[in-house]
Formats: sequence, C-alpha cells, structure tokens
Amino acid sequence: MEPKSETPLPPLYARWVEQVLGTSVPAETRATCLDCVMCASSVASDAAVFERFVPPVKCCTYVPQIWNFLVGHALGADRTGASHGPQQLRAQIRDRIGATPVAISPSRRSVSGYRAVTRVEGFGTSADLVCPYSDPMTGGCGVWQARNSVCSTWFCRHIRGAVGFRFWNVVRDFLAAVERELADWCVVKLGLSGSAVDELYGPDGEVRYLGAGDLRGCVEPDGVIERDFYRALWANWYGKEEEFYLASADMTGSLSWGDVRGIGGPKLAMAERRLIEAHASYNSNAIPERLVRAQIRDTPGPDGALFVQCDEAPYDPQLMEADLRTALDRFDGRPRQEVVVEIGGLGGPALADETLRALYEAGLLIAVDGKDIPPMSRSIGPVQPDDRLSFFRGFQGQNVSLVQGLDEGGLETVTLQCHPNRVCFDDPHLFEFARKLVSFQNGFTAKEALDWGPTGRPYTWEKVSELFQALLEGGMLQRLP
Ligand code: SF4
Ligand code: SF4
Repeated sequence: MEPKSETPLPPLYARWVEQVLGTSVPAETRATCLDCVMCASSVASDAAVFERFVPPVKCCTYVPQIWNFLVGHALGADRTGASHGPQQLRAQIRDRIGATPVAISPSRRSVSGYRAVTRVEGFGTSADLVCPYSDPMTGGCGVWQARNSVCSTWFCRHIRGAVGFRFWNVVRDFLAAVERELADWCVVKLGLSGSAVDELYGPDGEVRYLGAGDLRGCVEPDGVIERDFYRALWANWYGKEEEFYLASADMTGSLSWGDVRGIGGPKLAMAERRLIEAHASYNSNAIPERLVRAQIRDTPGPDGALFVQCDEAPYDPQLMEADLRTALDRFDGRPRQEVVVEIGGLGGPALADETLRALYEAGLLIAVDGKDIPPMSRSIGPVQPDDRLSFFRGFQGQNVSLVQGLDEGGLETVTLQCHPNRVCFDDPHLFEFARKLVSFQNGFTAKEALDWGPTGRPYTWEKVSELFQALLEGGMLQRLP
C-alpha cells in the first residue's frame, strides 16, 4: 500500500517521489497559498516592514513550461470544459502560441520579461508577468493538479527554513529530469514523424527551447508560431494536437516510479540517488562542525526591532536581537565551539546547540562547503602576479554568469554576476577581461590575465592588478591558498 500523502505535490509527482522515498514528503504549511502569507491582506509580523506580494500576482510572476503529458493531464481533468487553465491551454493550441509536441512553452518575450522583472525585484508585484494559468476570478492556479516541477516545489516559506529550501530544490531538479525524459518518451512513443523530431531536437538529442529562441523556424516574440512552421512541427499529428497531449497523459498516468526510471535510464537513476540523499539530510538534525555566516541583509523595524534575511529564505525575515546579530559575524569557518567560546568571552549571548541549529536551519549560518575559503583563512595585501584567484561562490555553489546589455545611454555593457556580487563593465576594452574571468572562474594565476586582452591590445599589470584588487575587496574573487 502506498503511504498516505500529505505532500503539496500534484498527485502524479507525489506518487513517484513517495515511491522513491518510501514515505510522504512534508506539507509546507507556512506557505498558505489559499490566503497568501506574502500578500498584504495576510497577518504577518513583518507585514509593516517589507513589500508584500500583490494578489493575484503572488509568486505566479512567471510563465511555466507545461510539458506535453502535463498539458494532457490538465485537459483531461477539465470535465466541464470551462476551467480557466485548460481553457487557456486550448486557446494557445488554437492560436499556435508556444504549442509544440514537447510542451506548451513560454514565449521569448515572457522569458526576457521575467528576467527584467526579477532583476529589479518586481517578483510578486508586477502584474505584467502574471502567469496565464492563474485564474483571474479566484486568484488560484488553473492547472493545480498538473503544475510543473518549478511550480510544484516553490514555497515562499518553509517549515525547516533553509533546510527545506535545499530539499525542495533537489525535488525540483529531480522532477525536472523526469519531465524532460518523459516528454521525449511521449514524442517517440506517439510516433511523431522524423522531420518534426529533427525540428524539435538538435543533433545531440537536446530539445530546442522555444522560449530561448532555439527553434529553427519563425516564432514571434509573443510565442506565435508561423503557420507553415507549426504544421512542420506537428507533422503527422497536425490538427490532432489535443489528442496528442491527452495520449501523452494516458501513457504516463499509470507509470510507477520503476517504469519511469526504466524510461529515463542512468540520468534518472542519478536524480533518484540525489533525492534520497537530500531527504536524509532533510531529516537530519546534525549541525555542521564548521559554520560561516551567510550573506545577510539587515532591515530595521519599528521600535528598534531588527529583521535579518538570507539568500536561502529571502521571503522569511527573522526578527533578531542586536547582540545575536553581532555574534553571527564571528562565525568565519572555524570549529563552531571555538567561536561559541569566543563570543561568550566577549560578553555576547550564550549559544546553545539548539540556538545554533535554529540559526543553521534559518540559513543564517551555513556549512563551509570545502571549495570556498573562509575570509579568516585568506591572505591579504596587494595582489601579486603569482596569486591564485577564483570566484567566491558564497559557500553555496552560486553560479557565475555574464550578461550583455545596454546602459541608460544605450551603450553596451557587460555584467558579471555571482550572487550576491555584481560588477558592471562599461569600458569595451575590458569586455574581453570579463569574458575570460568567466572562462577561468574556478581558478587562475593573476599574471595569466596579461594575455586576456583583445588581439594586439594586451592588458598591463597595473590595470590587471587594479581590477583584481577591487574584485578581491568587493568579495567577488577570493585568493586561494
Ligand atoms: S507559495 Fe506563493 S501563493 Fe503560496 S503563500 Fe507563498 S507566495 Fe503565496
Ligand atoms: S502554473 Fe499555477 S502555480 Fe504555476 S505560476 Fe501558473 S498559476 Fe502559479
């Protein structure tokens, strides 16, 4: 008998996750979606201090990719034919908006709009990007039972704080791997003709994403697929798109996890192992031996109150006493008991394991991940030609990215990002320097950068050392031992 589920996952996903774990996954009751805790109408201790989400936007400031079998599940569950989400999906099929045999996808415009909105922190408040499947009458999700991996696993607040955030991220990645494998499997099993498959997938078998502009035919920025290209994409299923999606749902609806793993092979076996390990970590109460303070934002509240927020729980501010906040700065990667004794000796608060566990679960203290160097262990002083440098990833494996854009005057810029650090270059002579930094993000010797300049225009040591010094002092780079 399968375990009785309390999971917030859609039924199909809950079944597979529970079959992997042998138990139900936790409900996230602090994310009160029926009366959104992030919206102004909700009662929350921090409501007067932080910007609230706006109904009906909420966290649905995002257009999801609805994979073929999920589209089928949503359509198949719509018994009246009048539910908002399925109606929206049918309209997209009818109007050729983002509908391919792989998925109904967000348009290029919504993908870039999402990036722009979230860059200026409009998440939860910008009505421009509210999900098309969000029901304007109820404010609820119109495809709730067929949400994708991202929608199913995103919660603004977690019962176990950052520990829950990390667990759900692994569940998301697990389900995303399942989605990709099953969507492809449906395409093959339903006998889509070879010419259409060649349009939908590259020679390496990777799907071409409509929202990324990867498809080789004409797709408007708003996702409308030009008629002849649409016909080519659907080939032998053209005119029978709904049937295709419904058949995808039929084929996947009865699969057990063993069936799914058999379809996905080694990729899903790896995803399964990660999920099992993440669940074990989620259930553990262990506190890491060495702790370091996370990147924290302090926000003053009324009457001298102080709220702190960290990257892994940005929508879950914690009210904190000033002396505890000061004590957090002492955690720099040394053994935690050494730091606790030091804080006590300085007249700070006594930190029992229970308090340390709470701070760790809140994401305010994090484990040293072994790749980044705690600040107290780094050598200081002017950068030298033989210094080994790398990006500092905040002890959390943050990705390094490079974004090309335009400044307010319309001039080209290149921005390096490694959350929470961000550096914008507006001197075209340094664009190549920024690109090379990304190429060598995991480690390089400072003097190597002398050869990073555009052809015929090498950088001088004076310029290179000045740049590295600034990046070291700003925290984007770290000096390796
Ligand atoms: S998960 Fe989204 S809808 Fe649910 S409570 Fe949080 S912000 Fe509101
Ligand atoms: S599919 Fe549902 S949960 Fe996901 S963004 Fe849209 S309305 Fe929100």
